[in-house]
Amino acid sequence: MSGIRQHLHERVIYDKLARLKSESGSHSPSIQTLRQTIPELEIRVDACFLSNPHATDLFMKYLEVEVINAGLLREVLEYYPSQNRVIAAHLAQSIGVPPSNIIVGNGATELIQAVMYHFVHGKVVLPIPTFSPYYEFARPGTDVSYHQLSKARGYALDIEDFARSALSQSASAAILINPNNPTGAYLGIAELRELLERLRTLDVVVVDESFIHFAREDETLTPINLYPLAQMYPNLILVKSMSKDFGVAGARAGYAVMSSERVDVLLADGFLWNSNGIAEYFFSLYSRPEFRQQYESVRRRAVQETVDLQAELSLLPRSRVYPSHGNFVLLELLPGLSSGDLVSALLVRHGIYLRNCDDKIGLQGSYVRVASRGADDNSRIVEALKDVLL
Ligand SMILES: *Cc1c(COP(=O)(O)O)cnc(C)c1O
Repeated sequence: MSGIRQHLHERVIYDKLARLKSESGSHSPSIQTLRQTIPELEIRVDACFLSNPHATDLFMKYLEVEVINAGLLREVLEYYPSQNRVIAAHLAQSIGVPPSNIIVGNGATELIQAVMYHFVHGKVVLPIPTFSPYYEFARPGTDVSYHQLSKARGYALDIEDFARSALSQSASAAILINPNNPTGAYLGIAELRELLERLRTLDVVVVDESFIHFAREDETLTPINLYPLAQMYPNLILVKSMSKDFGVAGARAGYAVMSSERVDVLLADGFLWNSNGIAEYFFSLYSRPEFRQQYESVRRRAVQETVDLQAELSLLPRSRVYPSHGNFVLLELLPGLSSGDLVSALLVRHGIYLRNCDDKIGLQGSYVRVASRGADDNSRIVEALKDVLL
């Protein structure tokens, strides 16, 4: 192993980490699993986990005052949440989409599964590297055609290339994660619209916009709204997780926007009480102007922190950064450096946990993904990386 210095007494921990990683499939071991399995580790910053911590603080403030201190927690837990259509109706007002076009999920993952099962058949084109559930949940018999994104273009999508690939293979579906995870590459609205125009003959085009609140069209950092596109292209399915930008992964809140016929198909298949009281409370907050206004400020703060983190990381030796529109930065290690060794060294010596991307298909080289965790933790991450990479 050239490159990253390894201390002999750390070997045991490295081995345990490697074993854990190989047991967790395409997702990294969670911080809880790490703490249980390797209690000698002192974890200070979980920069594997993607969320906006300021948004979590904001949500907690509301939850404490309006639910816990108000004595309503029992009610939230004891009673059934509202039915899917009722929550969708609340959400409709806040996002400006007719309620009949919205389905609420127990996290976006549930809807990805449902969409892949019900609507994505035959051949589907999927750019890689990307978020793994889109290929893991493909129904048996579905032919997933991987569209390798070009490393030379920073894994950014070339719409010409992608459209040609989908059409020439007579694909019935195409999937796009925008901004993409783990690369952070973003396709701007104008180009996305052009792509949808070319793919309008397909049965389904899925656009996962789970990181869209972190994306920037320009310096104004104006929130980006893709819903008008759903009105123009009936084959478009927009998938949105609230886990990352609102920092509420444990609440399991996500939704999708699609044709009302498709919503009906899914609702006929179940999804009646698939949400929960905490998620319902979250969605009710989401439609309130004061919360939205406060959220807008923590959203901008997270975007700015990621921009700053990216600038800092770009100064590190023996690595390069990919421009990101997510709340994370993809860092490529120069040849000879192993991402597994880097992750272990950071964890053991500095208590900082990064996402090792060696299981991501389509990434060519050695990569880690660094989550932006707020200005203070970000400085700790940068200092630790300097120490290990220098
Ligand atoms: C994390 C993630 C999801 C899943 O989010 P949940 O709402 O927590 O299920 C969906 N899509 C992408 C691109 C993600 O990164």
